[in-house]
Amino acid sequence: RVTGTEPDGERPTDGITYEDIGGLDDELEMVREMIELPLSRPEVFTRLGVEPPKGVLLHGPPGTGKTLIAKAVANEVDASFRTVSGPEIMSKYKGESEERLREVFEDAAENTPAIIFFDEIDSIAGKRDDSGDVENRVVGQLLTLMDGLDARGDIIVIGATNRVDSLDMALRRGGRFDREIEIGVPGKAGRREILDVHIRRMPLAEDVKVDKIASQTHGFVGADLASLSKEAAMTALRRARHAGEPLETVEVTRADFEHAMANIEPSA
Ligand code: ATP
Repeated sequence: RVTGTEPDGERPTDGITYEDIGGLDDELEMVREMIELPLSRPEVFTRLGVEPPKGVLLHGPPGTGKTLIAKAVANEVDASFRTVSGPEIMSKYKGESEERLREVFEDAAENTPAIIFFDEIDSIAGKRDDSGDVENRVVGQLLTLMDGLDARGDIIVIGATNRVDSLDMALRRGGRFDREIEIGVPGKAGRREILDVHIRRMPLAEDVKVDKIASQTHGFVGADLASLSKEAAMTALRRARHAGEPLETVEVTRADFEHAMANIEPSA
């Protein structure tokens, strides 16, 4: 588990790769160009005289894959990965938030290429006028640290938020989080691809039509579809247990998915 600013566990990215991400093809294309390329081929940018981005914002509703993307790109380029949880750093380390931030950046600098992922960045970097003293200091610290990153591009800070408009404008200026990628609610084709990711190792009965499930799940984001798949599998297990059927050969049926659908509310 990756939390707060703890040094990451053994597998900070949980082994997540692009294969674990459904849909989002255009978004991933931008991720490759803005994050992957500078980390893996910095010389290309130098040669062209372009400064690689220091900060990229991923914004969109909860559960749409922002964290997955950050972890997948870190894995792809073999970058070290640190997560800073906005709400946690604001509460848990009262009075030491700026110091913790400094440590995270120092640590990243010793382990390049590196990605620093700020989850729910809006909770530390809301507009300064309407936030308290602590917030102001922490935003100030973050700005200083980002300005202090050299332009080599071997550290990229990714900020995730579902309230991009509430971010302090100073953070979105050039040289800071000056690139943005919107991660939206998936359409039917996206839902189909996300479902494919989550059912790829699931024994499915022949009557399961994944396309049909994709059609019937309007408003479901990736996290909802992950829950749906899990719930369908649990329903199958329960059904088999009640019927006294052998559990080793259980298959997940269309009825199991329908049962799960009736029990999960779409987030969007
Ligand atoms: P939050 O703003 O709540 O942190 P997020 O956008 O970072 O949300 P993730 O943590 O990436 O969302 O997604 C949560 C879970 O939902 C993932 O672990 C995964 O199981 C599933 N999920 C979300 N989006 C996708 C996707 N595009 N493809 C496959 N699975 C997805």
